[in-house]
Amino acid sequence: MRFEETAHEMVAETETSAEVLFVCTEQACGRRVVVGKARPRLTVIDRGDFAARHAGSLGGVVMDDVEAA
Ligand SMILES: [Zn+2]
Repeated sequence: MRFEETAHEMVAETETSAEVLFVCTEQACGRRVVVGKARPRLTVIDRGDFAARHAGSLGGVVMDDVEAA
């Protein structure tokens, strides 16, 4: 059994010494999450397209919905 999955890329919009703000590159989606640098922590600000898979990275910080689930 297979199903189609939409994949969106997320990019780092801004960062502090402790956190990185990732935003989805799809205009219609608008997902935004904050990822902790020192410890694996993800806070969803805007859920966006919940059905899409989101992934992105900045340096050693990786944003991956699979780990966050
Ligand atoms: Zn998206």
